[in-house]
Amino acid sequence: MKLEPIAMPEADATDRLAGFGEVNQGYTEELARAEAERCLECKNAPCRAGCPVDVDIPAFIKLIREGKYSQAGLKIKETNAFPAICGRVCPQEQQCQAECVLAKQDKPINIGYLERFAGDYLIASPPEQAERPDSSGY
Ligand code: SF4
Repeated sequence: MKLEPIAMPEADATDRLAGFGEVNQGYTEELARAEAERCLECKNAPCRAGCPVDVDIPAFIKLIREGKYSQAGLKIKETNAFPAICGRVCPQEQQCQAECVLAKQDKPINIGYLERFAGDYLIASPPEQAERPDSSGY
């Protein structure tokens, strides 16, 4: 298991000078799976207790590890309607990530980065209606 957290790629400084695009570029699929591999799938899920909307964090991370990215986004949406937004603006460092067991080693899972990845993936590649857990979809 890789212990070091996976950093999020950032836009090149030259590109940043030329526009107003996001500096943080988001995880690629490969980077998201690598970060998800670090999760210990804790049975008591202390990270979840730190989430104000009770996202099932170990479950959505497991789905990312399995390559089920849209399903990971849908898992988050069971209790949080805006994973792509919350993955960017929630203070995860003081909430879920602060409660992660790996925070004791100052290497918590980058839950926010993974949430952003799953939310963005769901927007870009929504599953077929039949794959959705209910007809309301998202
Ligand atoms: S506390 Fe950290 S390692 Fe444990 S399930 Fe949550 S994110 Fe994974």
